[in-house]
Amino acid sequence: MSAKRAPKTKKLRTASFSNPNAFKLDIPTPPTLRECLAQGLFGSGISPNGDREMTIEHSKQLIERYPSLYRLADASPVPSSPPFAREGFACGDGWFGLVDRLSAKLSADPNLVVGQIKEKLGLLRVYFELSPLPSSEIEEATDAALAEAVAESQITCERCGKPGKHAQRGGYWSVECGACAAEEARRKSLRPWMWRLLAGLPAASGGRSRLDLTPEHALALLEGYPALYREAWAAPTSPVSRFAAGGFEIGDGWFRIVDRISARLAKDPALHVVQVKEKYVRLKVHCERDPSVPRDPSLDAELKAALDETGDESERTCEVCGEPGTIKERGRYFRVRCEPCDQIDEISAACGRIGKLVEGLGLAAFTANEIIQDAVRLAMVSIGHAAAGQPPALRAKLPGIDWERLDRLSGITGAMHMAANEIWKFAQEEAPGLERELR
Ligand SMILES: [Zn+2]
Ligand SMILES: [Zn+2]
Repeated sequence: MSAKRAPKTKKLRTASFSNPNAFKLDIPTPPTLRECLAQGLFGSGISPNGDREMTIEHSKQLIERYPSLYRLADASPVPSSPPFAREGFACGDGWFGLVDRLSAKLSADPNLVVGQIKEKLGLLRVYFELSPLPSSEIEEATDAALAEAVAESQITCERCGKPGKHAQRGGYWSVECGACAAEEARRKSLRPWMWRLLAGLPAASGGRSRLDLTPEHALALLEGYPALYREAWAAPTSPVSRFAAGGFEIGDGWFRIVDRISARLAKDPALHVVQVKEKYVRLKVHCERDPSVPRDPSLDAELKAALDETGDESERTCEVCGEPGTIKERGRYFRVRCEPCDQIDEISAACGRIGKLVEGLGLAAFTANEIIQDAVRLAMVSIGHAAAGQPPALRAKLPGIDWERLDRLSGITGAMHMAANEIWKFAQEEAPGLERELR
């Protein structure tokens, strides 16, 4: 905290008292902008503008260099606070230099406090909090500095700071240089699942997240073989293949295999992938070929053989972790798993069995039914045995799971000797949480 804190302006004080509910709600005060930045977070802990946000490092520099101008960095970011307290610098990092120069000039008036600084219609916008009226010279100097900064923002790429052009792009005004505009156009053409990947989310929004190819691996393939995976970048209006619609429909354990086959398929520039999926425990990669490019029979034969080899290799490779695996049956499905990953599937399946056993039962009915209690106990022991087979490296990959707790389920003091109410608690609380962790 700064040693000398300037008194809050009149407007601020009215604002914080104007919401009587703020005093009734028993919620912790959200961190201030300065505290967020110190923890490596953007204002309010989120970045409202994505890559159009001042970097954390530059935001910190500005509030440290001009503490009086940006004193709202220490105000509570409640809904009634001025936008700066909640959002910080809501413009791209390319404007850091001009905002820095502007701030130096504005600091000449010690009463001036920035209430909002943002990009609007492609230009820099700054609003101030109410403060005592400045002298006319200071007011003139402030206006001149602002006009200069706005004029500069009109010719400065908001993303990178190089000379840029103020223009309408996709219906919005912005200032971008040629390179940044091209990169943005490329991003805009991405498939929805690619957006998820670039945001660091699993490609599928559904329940296969633990199994899915990681975002890093998916991006490595797309960037490594851009022609082969060109459908990931195609315009949304083009015919949609399975790959364009859903991306890589395989587990991360098969990443190396997909990487190797991609390198071989990329030898034929006329090919592009239309589907990557698991079918009957094998990796399938389906391609389409541009018919206008003459075929090379020997390359065709080589690639066909390579695809068959790939299928064979996938049958021996755990789809979750990539270690050697075998075909396992679980429920109605077959899949390739190593021993520990198969045991993880068993934990998940046992949680599912427990859920079905206690479904619709109350504690009284459960306590009275020893057959169901024993069935739940057996499933818990099975979870304990499966957990015991997990080596430390694999346990570390699932840090949300209390492994020591699971280890104790199968021992002599384990589930077989637990009272009905303890079993009930496990079935109601721990098993559903465990099942969620393993999705
Ligand atoms: Zn640029
Ligand atoms: Zn495995």
